[in-house]
Amino acid sequence: MKTSPKNIKGVMEDRLPKKVVQALKAAGEVAEGMNYSAYLVGGLVRDLLLGVENLDVDITVEGEGIAFAEKLAQRLSGRVKGITRFGTAIVTLRGGFKIDVATARREYYERPAALPTVQKSSIREDQFRRDFTINAMAIKLNPGEFGKLIDFFAGERDLKRGVVRALHKKSFLDDPTRIFRAVRFSERYQFKIDEGTKDLIKQATNLAMFDELTIERVRDELVLILSEENPARAIKKMAELHELKFIHPRIKLNKQLRKLLGNLEEVLSWFRSSFPKEKPSPWLIYFSALLRGLTLKEARAACQRFHLSRKDEEKVIKGKEGVSRKLRELGKEKPRPSQIYLQLESLPLESLLVVMARASRIVRERISLYLRELRRARLKVTGDDLKELGLRPGPKFAELLKKTLIAKLDGSLKTKEDELNYVKMNISRMRR
Ligand code: ATP
Repeated sequence: MKTSPKNIKGVMEDRLPKKVVQALKAAGEVAEGMNYSAYLVGGLVRDLLLGVENLDVDITVEGEGIAFAEKLAQRLSGRVKGITRFGTAIVTLRGGFKIDVATARREYYERPAALPTVQKSSIREDQFRRDFTINAMAIKLNPGEFGKLIDFFAGERDLKRGVVRALHKKSFLDDPTRIFRAVRFSERYQFKIDEGTKDLIKQATNLAMFDELTIERVRDELVLILSEENPARAIKKMAELHELKFIHPRIKLNKQLRKLLGNLEEVLSWFRSSFPKEKPSPWLIYFSALLRGLTLKEARAACQRFHLSRKDEEKVIKGKEGVSRKLRELGKEKPRPSQIYLQLESLPLESLLVVMARASRIVRERISLYLRELRRARLKVTGDDLKELGLRPGPKFAELLKKTLIAKLDGSLKTKEDELNYVKMNISRMRR
């Protein structure tokens, strides 16, 4: 296979921080000294060519990756961590900068007939294991060849054309998480998925099997997709490629889900501009939206299948459970602020935003009032004040504080004195 003779040293020097270029040159020299070849690989190569910032340095060596990592750490006064038996390690430099080191996969060595070409071929073999052509380019780091672009699969051409293309027909069967990765990269860069690759994805969605380990990796990919800039568009793309059934067989991109996704975009953009410091997890919000048409039991099962934490599962469930009733209550004429508060106080932010996306205009305004003001309401009276009045902490105590808060929300208590008087009045009522 012919490799591109192109050298992009200039691009590297232009686009990467000086320190990174120096570290890469050092890596090339260390490799050369060990009689190895070292390559920059993966996402950084792709993003370098695209002009997108990325500082995830992945180096693959033809040779002993761990021995190389140790020498590189010595040379750069760093430390080696995370050594695995697969020949990977992390070199951490002062200031926390990290270099991931991997050994070009070995299978090639095991074929006796291939021995003479092992050194040259192993980077090709390594690249052939990758997901898409745009992620399967490498840059040689050894002195003399520093900056040489190694592009066996026309990744650069696909980058220029804006295409996500699998390397071979079995790619999605070998690793079904790639089904989701295709959408992620296509979404992120606004690339098309190559037509042949689309067909392979569709075929694989009928055949692919997900074991336990793969499920967790699919979950991780899903989290990444739903954390990209436009999750709604990504979900539409997943639907087009029949991928939603992996999340749950009953998820369909129907009118209801389309509408919810559209509303979520509005609600989230309003929320982000109104509360820039708060960072609800977008992936959880969109994951909840995806489960909109499922029963509570099915939604719980989907969360558990993906091993979501208990906390995340609750967020998903609270965005579904009893929501129709809440929306009805919130839609009643002239609700008191405390009534709005009581409907919403138990909802984590992510669930609340999903509920808001399901709400009518008028209910949205009420939820917005809750977010802007009501949820922040605090009493001036404290637990200590109540103790001074002779009350012992317990359920009654909490009940009284809540009752006082409700009165405050509805505007009848302004000062701390008002609150204390209200508390005293209620204590005497309780004692009667
Ligand atoms: P990001 O910018 O999102 O980190 P990335 O390309 O760096 O994108 P990673 O998931 O960090 O993505 O993976 C690094 C590289 O490892 C990829 O560019 C790709 O070459 C390879 N890779 C990762 N996952 C797979 C996979 N499932 N199958 C094949 N190759 C993969």
